[in-house]
Amino acid sequence: MKINQEVKVNKNVLRTTELGQYILQKYTPKKDLIRKLAEYADGVFKPKTLERVKSCGDFMQHLTTVDMSARRVHRSNSCGNRFCPICTWNKAKKDAIMISVVMEAIRHEEDQEYIFLTLTAPNVDGDELKNEIDRFNKSFNKLFKRRNVQKVINGYVRKLEVTYNKERFITKEMYKNATAYYKKRGLQVGDNNPNYDTYHPHFHAILAVNKSYFTDTKVYINQAKWLEMWQECMNDSSITQVDIRKVRSSEKSENGAILEVAKYSAKGNELYHSQDVFEVFYKALKGRQLITFNGLFKEYVKKFKNKELEEYQKEDENIYTHLLTSIWRTSKYENMLRELTLEEFEEYNSKAKKVEEMEVE
Ligand SMILES: [Zn+2]
Repeated sequence: MKINQEVKVNKNVLRTTELGQYILQKYTPKKDLIRKLAEYADGVFKPKTLERVKSCGDFMQHLTTVDMSARRVHRSNSCGNRFCPICTWNKAKKDAIMISVVMEAIRHEEDQEYIFLTLTAPNVDGDELKNEIDRFNKSFNKLFKRRNVQKVINGYVRKLEVTYNKERFITKEMYKNATAYYKKRGLQVGDNNPNYDTYHPHFHAILAVNKSYFTDTKVYINQAKWLEMWQECMNDSSITQVDIRKVRSSEKSENGAILEVAKYSAKGNELYHSQDVFEVFYKALKGRQLITFNGLFKEYVKKFKNKELEEYQKEDENIYTHLLTSIWRTSKYENMLRELTLEEFEEYNSKAKKVEEMEVE
């Protein structure tokens, strides 16, 4: 192959390489979702915004190895819209790595440990969703202004997530996940789903605490107390679900928590379920802050953005020799591979590179 000469990548190569599979399995289905979004957003988004969303991901370039086993985003055209399946996915991948680095730094420099908190409330109808989220925000702020909470929580990262219940009838999986709930109501698999066509806003948060929090019985807050406080702040005694757990320092435990707060506020298969559902999500989430950093987290996110936390960032040890250009053609990507010029090779490999993304489904 001549240097700088682009070669078309055929289907078989695409299917058998890591980057090829990534494009086929991750990007291509999201381009299909964009088509759905464009249909629902017609008349909802401004025409200019709609055009940008439609063309999102039409062009992208990845640095890679000759066998296309490694990847690093080089350039791409992205719309940045918060309802776009490609952009929300890319943001989640970047947020995940940022939160992971920030947590590592806070653990080392501030001697902190973490707890993972999930706050929920009963489901609401579509026309109540917007107000319900406002109520969640107010109640969360109330909760974190309480003296016993303020005394022990040194910062948090919080994510708003909204799920939509699209099942008309109770499925096996739903029953398995909430057996006690259905049993109490005398319901079985196949019965009408009492929560059909309702929305479920909830918060996931990672909280930073002093190490002594777990052993000091005077300040420790147990699950029953968190539940009681959340009921009081929401002024709703029917709330039963508050989950609180320690984030262990294992990678699995920590990544689990990170992915919960980094991932999208709405799942693709729910957000683009129908025109009506899309509009409910749109009205409720438009212009809203979805991820919030507070206290130590806020301070360290600033440091991360100022590149002051590079010592906590993993090195990207791949040597990139090639550039893959992918162009969207109606229903699939056309992919072209070429070797980097010597100049490019040096530019993209000489300085220590940091890992920029954490994989998110
Ligand atoms: Zn986009």
